[in-house]
Amino acid sequence: MTEEIEEVECLIIGSGPAGYTAAIYAARADMKPVLYEGMQPGGQLTITTDVENYPGYPDGIMGPEMMEHFKNQAVRLGTDSRYGMVTSVDFSGKPPYNIIVDESKKILAHTVIISTGASAKWLGIESETRLNGSGVSACAVCDGFFYKGSDVAIVGAGDTAAEEATYLAKICNQVTMLVRRDEMRASKAMQHRVENTPNITVMYNTETDEVLGKHGVEGVRVKNNQTGETTEIPIKGFFVAIGHKPNTGIFKDYLDMDETGYIITKPDSSKTNVEGVFACGDAQDHIYRQAVTAAGTGCMAALDAERYLSAKKSEESMSHA
Ligand code: NDP
Repeated sequence: MTEEIEEVECLIIGSGPAGYTAAIYAARADMKPVLYEGMQPGGQLTITTDVENYPGYPDGIMGPEMMEHFKNQAVRLGTDSRYGMVTSVDFSGKPPYNIIVDESKKILAHTVIISTGASAKWLGIESETRLNGSGVSACAVCDGFFYKGSDVAIVGAGDTAAEEATYLAKICNQVTMLVRRDEMRASKAMQHRVENTPNITVMYNTETDEVLGKHGVEGVRVKNNQTGETTEIPIKGFFVAIGHKPNTGIFKDYLDMDETGYIITKPDSSKTNVEGVFACGDAQDHIYRQAVTAAGTGCMAALDAERYLSAKKSEESMSHA
Protein backbone atom coordinates (compact mmCIF):
# COMPACT_ATOMS: atom_id res chain seq x y z
CA MET A 1 0.00 0.00 0.00
CA THR A 2 1.40 3.40 -0.89
CA GLU A 3 1.44 6.04 1.80
CA GLU A 4 -0.97 8.89 1.20
CA ILE A 5 0.74 12.26 0.83
CA GLU A 6 -1.39 15.37 0.93
CA GLU A 7 -0.38 18.15 -1.45
CA VAL A 8 -1.20 21.70 -0.38
CA GLU A 9 -0.70 25.02 -2.11
CA CYS A 10 -0.18 27.00 1.05
CA LEU A 11 0.74 25.53 4.41
CA ILE A 12 0.60 27.86 7.40
CA ILE A 13 2.40 26.79 10.56
CA GLY A 14 1.06 28.49 13.70
CA SER A 15 -2.19 30.06 14.80
CA GLY A 16 -1.58 33.47 16.35
CA PRO A 17 -2.53 36.80 14.76
CA ALA A 18 0.18 36.34 12.10
CA GLY A 19 -0.93 32.84 11.07
CA TYR A 20 -4.64 33.62 10.96
CA THR A 21 -4.14 36.88 9.09
CA ALA A 22 -1.99 35.03 6.55
CA ALA A 23 -4.80 32.45 6.34
CA ILE A 24 -7.48 35.12 5.74
CA TYR A 25 -5.50 36.58 2.84
CA ALA A 26 -4.45 33.21 1.43
CA ALA A 27 -8.02 31.90 1.57
CA ARG A 28 -9.36 34.98 -0.21
CA ALA A 29 -6.67 34.50 -2.86
CA ASP A 30 -8.01 30.97 -3.38
CA MET A 31 -4.81 29.29 -2.17
CA LYS A 32 -6.85 26.85 -0.03
CA PRO A 33 -4.60 27.30 2.99
CA VAL A 34 -4.11 24.49 5.46
CA LEU A 35 -3.13 25.81 8.89
CA TYR A 36 -1.68 23.74 11.72
CA GLU A 37 -2.47 25.31 15.06
CA GLY A 38 0.52 23.98 17.01
CA MET A 39 1.02 23.50 20.74
CA GLN A 40 -0.89 26.58 21.83
CA PRO A 41 -3.85 27.12 19.48
CA GLY A 42 -4.45 30.85 19.19
CA GLY A 43 -0.93 31.65 20.35
CA GLN A 44 0.20 33.91 23.16
CA LEU A 45 -2.92 36.07 23.13
CA THR A 46 -4.90 33.17 24.51
CA ILE A 47 -3.03 33.58 27.79
CA THR A 48 -3.53 37.29 28.11
CA THR A 49 -6.47 39.28 29.44
CA ASP A 50 -7.58 42.63 28.08
CA VAL A 51 -6.19 43.69 24.73
CA GLU A 52 -6.60 47.44 24.57
CA ASN A 53 -4.28 48.32 21.73
CA TYR A 54 -5.69 46.31 18.83
CA PRO A 55 -7.51 48.75 16.54
CA GLY A 56 -11.19 48.13 15.97
CA TYR A 57 -12.09 47.23 19.56
CA PRO A 58 -12.90 50.58 21.20
CA ASP A 59 -13.74 48.94 24.53
CA GLY A 60 -10.87 46.44 24.40
CA ILE A 61 -11.33 42.69 24.08
CA MET A 62 -10.16 39.59 25.92
CA GLY A 63 -7.22 37.91 24.16
CA PRO A 64 -8.82 34.45 23.79
CA GLU A 65 -12.01 35.98 22.38
CA MET A 66 -10.04 38.02 19.89
CA MET A 67 -8.26 34.89 18.68
CA GLU A 68 -11.61 33.14 18.26
CA HIS A 69 -12.62 36.02 15.99
CA PHE A 70 -9.41 35.63 13.97
CA LYS A 71 -9.96 31.89 13.61
CA ASN A 72 -13.64 32.16 12.72
CA GLN A 73 -12.88 34.72 10.05
CA ALA A 74 -10.12 32.56 8.54
CA VAL A 75 -12.30 29.43 8.59
CA ARG A 76 -15.36 31.21 7.15
CA LEU A 77 -13.22 32.32 4.22
CA GLY A 78 -12.05 28.78 3.52
CA THR A 79 -9.04 28.01 5.73
CA ASP A 80 -8.65 24.42 6.83
CA SER A 81 -7.50 25.03 10.43
CA ARG A 82 -6.32 21.82 12.08
CA TYR A 83 -5.07 20.68 15.47
CA GLY A 84 -1.57 19.31 15.10
CA MET A 85 2.12 20.15 15.29
CA VAL A 86 4.51 20.36 12.40
CA THR A 87 7.34 18.25 13.76
CA SER A 88 9.88 18.46 10.92
CA VAL A 89 10.48 20.10 7.57
CA ASP A 90 12.76 19.45 4.66
CA PHE A 91 13.49 22.66 2.80
CA SER A 92 16.33 21.21 0.73
CA GLY A 93 15.86 21.34 -3.04
CA LYS A 94 12.94 23.13 -4.64
CA PRO A 95 9.26 23.29 -3.62
CA PRO A 96 7.03 21.42 -3.03
CA TYR A 97 8.64 20.69 0.32
CA ASN A 98 8.18 17.64 2.53
CA ILE A 99 6.59 18.52 5.83
CA ILE A 100 5.83 16.09 8.64
CA VAL A 101 2.93 16.67 11.00
CA ASP A 102 2.70 14.95 14.41
CA GLU A 103 5.72 12.83 13.43
CA SER A 104 3.71 10.79 10.95
CA LYS A 105 1.53 12.63 8.45
CA LYS A 106 3.29 13.75 5.26
CA ILE A 107 2.45 16.95 3.43
CA LEU A 108 3.89 18.32 0.21
CA ALA A 109 3.70 22.10 0.45
CA HIS A 110 4.15 24.42 -2.53
CA THR A 111 4.47 27.43 -0.21
CA VAL A 112 5.05 27.53 3.53
CA ILE A 113 4.21 30.42 5.83
CA ILE A 114 5.92 30.22 9.20
CA SER A 115 4.03 31.91 12.02
CA THR A 116 5.18 29.79 14.93
CA GLY A 117 5.51 32.71 17.35
CA ALA A 118 7.54 32.68 20.52
CA SER A 119 7.50 31.03 23.97
CA ALA A 120 8.29 32.22 27.46
CA LYS A 121 11.90 32.33 28.64
CA TRP A 122 12.95 30.92 31.99
CA LEU A 123 15.70 31.95 34.40
CA GLY A 124 17.32 28.54 34.14
CA ILE A 125 17.86 27.85 37.84
CA GLU A 126 17.31 24.38 39.27
CA SER A 127 14.61 25.32 41.80
CA GLU A 128 12.58 27.11 39.10
CA THR A 129 12.51 23.97 36.96
CA ARG A 130 11.80 21.66 39.89
CA LEU A 131 8.85 23.74 41.12
CA ASN A 132 7.44 24.52 37.68
CA GLY A 133 3.71 23.89 37.90
CA SER A 134 3.93 23.72 41.72
CA GLY A 135 4.00 27.43 42.34
CA VAL A 136 6.32 28.52 39.53
CA SER A 137 4.60 29.84 36.41
CA ALA A 138 5.30 31.95 33.33
CA CYS A 139 1.68 32.99 32.94
CA ALA A 140 0.04 35.17 35.57
CA VAL A 141 -3.23 35.19 33.72
CA CYS A 142 -3.37 31.39 33.57
CA ASP A 143 -2.24 30.69 37.13
CA GLY A 144 -2.74 33.87 39.19
CA PHE A 145 -6.11 32.63 40.39
CA PHE A 146 -4.42 29.85 42.41
CA TYR A 147 -2.75 32.47 44.62
CA LYS A 148 -5.84 34.46 45.49
CA GLY A 149 -5.19 36.39 48.71
CA SER A 150 -1.56 35.16 48.93
CA ASP A 151 1.79 36.88 48.47
CA VAL A 152 3.60 36.35 45.16
CA ALA A 153 6.72 37.57 43.35
CA ILE A 154 7.29 38.27 39.67
CA VAL A 155 10.63 38.53 37.89
CA GLY A 156 11.04 40.91 34.97
CA ALA A 157 10.80 44.59 34.17
CA GLY A 158 9.28 44.79 30.70
CA ASP A 159 5.70 45.52 29.69
CA THR A 160 4.70 41.92 30.26
CA ALA A 161 6.04 41.86 33.83
CA ALA A 162 4.42 45.21 34.62
CA GLU A 163 1.11 44.13 33.11
CA GLU A 164 1.16 40.80 34.93
CA ALA A 165 2.15 42.44 38.23
CA THR A 166 -0.88 44.75 38.06
CA TYR A 167 -3.07 41.80 37.11
CA LEU A 168 -1.76 39.77 40.08
CA ALA A 169 -2.21 42.75 42.40
CA LYS A 170 -5.96 42.54 41.80
CA ILE A 171 -6.07 38.92 42.99
CA CYS A 172 -3.21 38.56 45.44
CA ASN A 173 -2.42 40.19 48.75
CA GLN A 174 1.07 41.47 47.98
CA VAL A 175 3.14 41.40 44.77
CA THR A 176 6.92 41.84 44.78
CA MET A 177 8.49 42.72 41.45
CA LEU A 178 12.11 41.64 41.10
CA VAL A 179 13.96 43.96 38.72
CA ARG A 180 17.59 43.19 37.94
CA ARG A 181 18.63 46.74 36.97
CA ASP A 182 18.00 50.09 38.66
CA GLU A 183 15.18 50.85 36.25
CA MET A 184 12.41 49.15 34.34
CA ARG A 185 12.27 48.54 30.62
CA ALA A 186 8.45 48.80 30.59
CA SER A 187 6.76 51.79 28.95
CA LYS A 188 6.23 54.85 31.14
CA ALA A 189 2.48 54.24 31.15
CA MET A 190 2.95 50.72 32.53
CA GLN A 191 5.51 51.93 35.08
CA HIS A 192 3.02 54.50 36.34
CA ARG A 193 0.39 51.83 36.65
CA VAL A 194 2.79 49.75 38.77
CA GLU A 195 3.75 52.75 40.95
CA ASN A 196 0.09 53.57 41.50
CA THR A 197 -0.79 50.09 42.66
CA PRO A 198 -0.39 50.11 46.45
CA ASN A 199 0.16 46.37 46.91
CA ILE A 200 3.08 46.12 44.44
CA THR A 201 6.59 46.54 45.83
CA VAL A 202 9.41 46.89 43.32
CA MET A 203 12.87 45.66 44.34
CA TYR A 204 15.52 47.08 42.01
CA ASN A 205 19.02 45.65 41.43
CA THR A 206 17.61 42.35 42.58
CA GLU A 207 18.26 38.88 41.17
CA THR A 208 16.76 35.53 42.05
CA ASP A 209 19.09 33.20 43.91
CA GLU A 210 16.68 30.37 44.57
CA VAL A 211 13.00 29.59 44.71
CA LEU A 212 12.40 28.05 48.13
CA GLY A 213 10.21 25.07 48.94
CA LYS A 214 10.25 21.30 48.57
CA HIS A 215 6.93 20.36 47.01
CA GLY A 216 5.51 23.82 46.46
CA VAL A 217 6.79 27.40 46.53
CA GLU A 218 7.26 28.75 50.05
CA GLY A 219 9.51 31.69 49.32
CA VAL A 220 12.25 33.17 47.21
CA ARG A 221 15.81 34.08 48.13
CA VAL A 222 16.93 37.20 46.28
CA LYS A 223 20.24 38.98 46.08
CA ASN A 224 20.95 42.68 45.71
CA ASN A 225 23.54 42.78 42.93
CA GLN A 226 25.00 46.07 44.23
CA THR A 227 25.48 45.17 47.88
CA GLY A 228 25.52 41.35 47.71
CA GLU A 229 22.89 41.25 50.46
CA THR A 230 20.47 38.33 50.32
CA THR A 231 16.85 38.41 51.51
CA GLU A 232 14.23 35.68 51.83
CA ILE A 233 10.69 36.67 50.93
CA PRO A 234 7.84 34.33 51.89
CA ILE A 235 5.60 33.78 48.84
CA LYS A 236 3.26 31.11 47.47
CA GLY A 237 3.59 31.88 43.77
CA PHE A 238 6.66 32.76 41.69
CA PHE A 239 6.04 34.22 38.25
CA VAL A 240 8.61 34.62 35.50
CA ALA A 241 8.03 37.32 32.87
CA ILE A 242 11.43 37.89 31.29
CA GLY A 243 10.58 37.78 27.62
CA HIS A 244 10.22 35.15 24.95
CA LYS A 245 12.24 33.11 22.49
CA PRO A 246 11.11 32.34 18.95
CA ASN A 247 9.77 28.84 18.19
CA THR A 248 12.01 28.23 15.23
CA GLY A 249 14.10 25.20 16.23
CA ILE A 250 12.73 22.86 13.52
CA PHE A 251 13.82 25.29 10.78
CA LYS A 252 17.37 25.90 11.96
CA ASP A 253 19.04 23.62 9.41
CA TYR A 254 17.55 25.54 6.50
CA LEU A 255 16.70 29.14 7.37
CA ASP A 256 18.93 32.10 8.11
CA MET A 257 18.38 33.24 11.70
CA ASP A 258 19.94 35.73 14.06
CA GLU A 259 21.87 34.54 17.10
CA THR A 260 18.70 34.26 19.20
CA GLY A 261 16.78 32.24 16.61
CA TYR A 262 14.61 34.90 14.97
CA ILE A 263 14.17 34.09 11.27
CA ILE A 264 15.77 36.68 9.02
CA THR A 265 13.49 37.95 6.27
CA LYS A 266 14.56 39.99 3.25
CA PRO A 267 14.04 43.76 3.59
CA ASP A 268 10.47 44.93 2.95
CA SER A 269 9.20 41.37 2.58
CA SER A 270 8.46 38.17 4.42
CA LYS A 271 10.78 36.12 2.17
CA THR A 272 13.30 33.87 3.85
CA ASN A 273 16.49 32.62 2.24
CA VAL A 274 14.55 29.57 0.99
CA GLU A 275 12.37 29.84 -2.10
CA GLY A 276 8.65 29.60 -1.35
CA VAL A 277 9.12 29.86 2.42
CA PHE A 278 7.89 32.99 4.19
CA ALA A 279 8.02 34.04 7.83
CA CYS A 280 5.89 36.42 9.85
CA GLY A 281 4.93 37.41 13.38
CA ASP A 282 7.04 36.81 16.49
CA ALA A 283 9.07 34.07 14.77
CA GLN A 284 10.79 36.80 12.75
CA ASP A 285 10.05 40.08 14.55
CA HIS A 286 12.24 40.71 17.56
CA ILE A 287 11.50 44.42 17.67
CA TYR A 288 7.78 45.19 17.76
CA ARG A 289 6.17 41.86 18.78
CA GLN A 290 2.64 43.24 18.87
CA ALA A 291 -0.57 41.52 17.78
CA VAL A 292 -1.17 44.23 15.21
CA THR A 293 2.33 44.05 13.73
CA ALA A 294 2.13 40.24 13.69
CA ALA A 295 -1.15 40.51 11.77
CA GLY A 296 0.50 42.97 9.37
CA THR A 297 3.40 40.68 8.62
CA GLY A 298 0.97 37.75 8.26
CA CYS A 299 -0.76 39.71 5.51
CA MET A 300 2.63 40.37 3.88
CA ALA A 301 3.50 36.66 3.97
CA ALA A 302 0.26 35.64 2.25
CA LEU A 303 0.68 38.32 -0.43
CA ASP A 304 4.29 37.25 -0.99
CA ALA A 305 3.25 33.58 -1.20
CA GLU A 306 0.47 34.37 -3.64
CA ARG A 307 2.78 36.41 -5.88
CA TYR A 308 5.40 33.70 -5.75
CA LEU A 309 2.88 31.04 -6.82
CA SER A 310 1.42 33.18 -9.62
CA ALA A 311 4.88 33.97 -10.98
CA LYS A 312 5.75 30.29 -10.90
CA LYS A 313 2.54 29.28 -12.63
CA SER A 314 3.01 31.82 -15.40
CA GLU A 315 6.64 30.69 -15.84
CA GLU A 316 5.44 27.08 -16.15
CA SER A 317 2.73 27.94 -18.67
CA MET A 318 5.27 29.93 -20.74
CA SER A 319 7.65 26.98 -20.80
CA HIS A 320 4.84 24.66 -21.93
CA ALA A 321 3.64 27.07 -24.63
P1 NDP B 1 11.08 42.36 27.17
O1 NDP B 1 12.15 41.68 26.40
O2 NDP B 1 10.63 43.70 26.76
O3 NDP B 1 11.51 42.47 28.69
C1 NDP B 1 12.07 41.41 29.37
C2 NDP B 1 12.41 41.89 30.78
O4 NDP B 1 12.90 40.79 31.52
C3 NDP B 1 13.46 42.96 30.79
O5 NDP B 1 13.13 43.94 31.73
C4 NDP B 1 14.71 42.19 31.22
O6 NDP B 1 15.60 42.94 32.01
C5 NDP B 1 14.13 41.12 32.10
N1 NDP B 1 15.00 39.93 32.12
C6 NDP B 1 15.45 39.22 31.06
N2 NDP B 1 16.21 38.18 31.48
C7 NDP B 1 16.21 38.25 32.84
C8 NDP B 1 16.81 37.48 33.86
N3 NDP B 1 17.55 36.39 33.56
N4 NDP B 1 16.62 37.85 35.13
C9 NDP B 1 15.88 38.92 35.43
N5 NDP B 1 15.27 39.72 34.52
C10 NDP B 1 15.45 39.37 33.24
O7 NDP B 1 9.87 41.30 27.19
P2 NDP B 1 8.33 41.51 27.47
O8 NDP B 1 7.76 40.14 27.40
O9 NDP B 1 8.08 42.30 28.68
O10 NDP B 1 7.79 42.34 26.21
C11 NDP B 1 8.02 41.88 24.88
C12 NDP B 1 7.44 42.90 23.89
O11 NDP B 1 6.02 42.90 23.98
C13 NDP B 1 7.91 44.31 24.15
O12 NDP B 1 8.12 44.95 22.92
C14 NDP B 1 6.75 44.91 24.89
O13 NDP B 1 6.67 46.33 24.72
C15 NDP B 1 5.56 44.22 24.25
N6 NDP B 1 4.40 44.15 25.14
C16 NDP B 1 3.45 45.11 25.01
C17 NDP B 1 2.33 45.11 25.80
C18 NDP B 1 1.33 46.18 25.58
O14 NDP B 1 1.58 47.07 24.80
N7 NDP B 1 0.19 46.14 26.23
C19 NDP B 1 2.12 44.11 26.86
C20 NDP B 1 3.20 43.15 26.94
C21 NDP B 1 4.29 43.19 26.12
P3 NDP B 1 16.50 44.12 31.39
O15 NDP B 1 15.56 45.28 31.22
O16 NDP B 1 17.49 44.34 32.47
O17 NDP B 1 17.06 43.61 30.13
